Amino acid sequence: MSPFSQNNVFIFINNTLFLVFDINSAKFISLKIKTMKYQPIQNYINGQFVTSSTNKTLHVISPIDGTLLSTVPLSVSKDLDAAVAAAKAAFPAWSRTPIKERVQVFFRYKYLLEKNLKELSELCSEENGKTYGESVAEIEKCIELTEFATSLPQLITGEVLEVSKGVECRTEHAPLGVVASIVPFNFPAMVPNWTIPNAIALGNCMIIKPSEKVPLSCGRLAELLKEAGLPDGVFNIVHGDVEIVEAICDHPGIEAVSFVGSTKVAKIVYKRATSNYKRCLALGGAKNHLLVLPDAKAEMTAQNVAASMSGCAGQRCMAASAMVAVGAVDHIIEKICDEARKIIPGKNLGAVINKASQERIEKYITEAEQQGAKILVDGRKTIVSGKEKGTYVGPTVIDFVTPEMSVAKEEIFGPVISIMRTKTLDEALAIENANPYGNAASVFTQNGSAARYVIDHASAGMIGVNVGVPVPREPFSFGGWNESKFGVGDITGKSSIEFWTKLKKSTTKWNPEAGVNWMS
Ligand code: NAD
Repeated sequence: MSPFSQNNVFIFINNTLFLVFDINSAKFISLKIKTMKYQPIQNYINGQFVTSSTNKTLHVISPIDGTLLSTVPLSVSKDLDAAVAAAKAAFPAWSRTPIKERVQVFFRYKYLLEKNLKELSELCSEENGKTYGESVAEIEKCIELTEFATSLPQLITGEVLEVSKGVECRTEHAPLGVVASIVPFNFPAMVPNWTIPNAIALGNCMIIKPSEKVPLSCGRLAELLKEAGLPDGVFNIVHGDVEIVEAICDHPGIEAVSFVGSTKVAKIVYKRATSNYKRCLALGGAKNHLLVLPDAKAEMTAQNVAASMSGCAGQRCMAASAMVAVGAVDHIIEKICDEARKIIPGKNLGAVINKASQERIEKYITEAEQQGAKILVDGRKTIVSGKEKGTYVGPTVIDFVTPEMSVAKEEIFGPVISIMRTKTLDEALAIENANPYGNAASVFTQNGSAARYVIDHASAGMIGVNVGVPVPREPFSFGGWNESKFGVGDITGKSSIEFWTKLKKSTTKWNPEAGVNWMS
């Protein structure tokens, strides 16, 4: 039963006409013409789906075939006020609930994610355009993230020490209060689950702002959290775009803001939230380099490179976007092209998010061609039969790219790999180091000392050795360097504990016989 019909039931008369039945009043309230797949999206505040106070909306369109899925409201500060009030009201009871009890919700939520994996995956694909298999992997990652949150009681036990006779110092992790999470379009379920289980299990109450391009999955997560027993008000959703993000950064009732998205917006959010004295962790864009050495296992390298550049249609902040071929690696480049040609749009390659994205990616490829690069596999002008309104770009391999070209420097966010060539590993590392981002870098080699050299000298937060997408799995934390992340700590794993809590230090003396010294 979703998306999201808590109070209303829809009775279809035929393919286009349906009656809306209100469960609360037990009455038919309207006869409607179905022009979109789902009913208009609502905010989720205090455990209820509620209509936004704005009538400004955007269409939610499936990139797969252009189907109009729904509309999303562009909420205003009044809507945020209501969400903050609900979260504030829920905070005292939730934060005082012992963590071992709080995580019981997430044991049940994990089970519900498993139980609803197929439906969640279908919804994720529908709104984002990724393949069903990629969505299944995304929901499986949500399950792993939740599993980590259930282990938090084991990880935040604090410390105690008798610091002088009869005097103890002790530390405890206290929740922050109402926190916000602003998320991008490329992982409609996973990125929200980078923050939801950890922040909430640690005792905070949350307001999430989904991407206006993929607002459906978050609503379904809200339903599952409620079914798992999360008290009303602990988790809230406010939809919208720029205006609501700015309102979140400014709201005096919000203690901390996490953000995941492009570097341009990460900088805006980080600056605005911290200038309002909020804690902020803002993850930005990426330009990840793969360094391929001549001794790399050709088959395995080619498969990894092709999968890394094309997975989720290249719309991953961990996607390989640039490859540096060090020395004689033409035999591997040939195999990469063979692998790329096996990737079929609409089959094992999903759509990119929208028309603007499709056009932007194609423009990058054309510019590179005009500047003298060689297009070995060309994904421009891809049309998937039967899905003519879908927005697809085929896998694209561009060779003889030079470091000053825009395809070498900028985040393309499409299934495109730009190959540059160097004679030495140091030259390759210089190219990697010069790019302003720093999410991931990988090296493909059979030489352990060369691999260690890359780990030591690459300027990125997450390094792969013979791994094309080096996402650390729980309990290891996720976070880049340089312009891929602003703020201290990482967003997942153990490192996120510091972000979502503050440390309380207490000094106690109960034994009257304890001597008095300078510290007691
Ligand atoms: P985006 O920056 O356009 O949007 C992210 C969020 O910010 C959305 O919720 C959006 O509504 C809001 N937003 C957009 N413009 C804004 C503005 N001017 N002011 C305030 N808020 C604004 O990013 P996107 O296109 O949704 O996602 C793709 C980007 O996210 C890529 O750059 C990708 O690399 C990055 N990303 C990074 C990571 C990471 O871990 N570093 C993970 C996933 C995605």
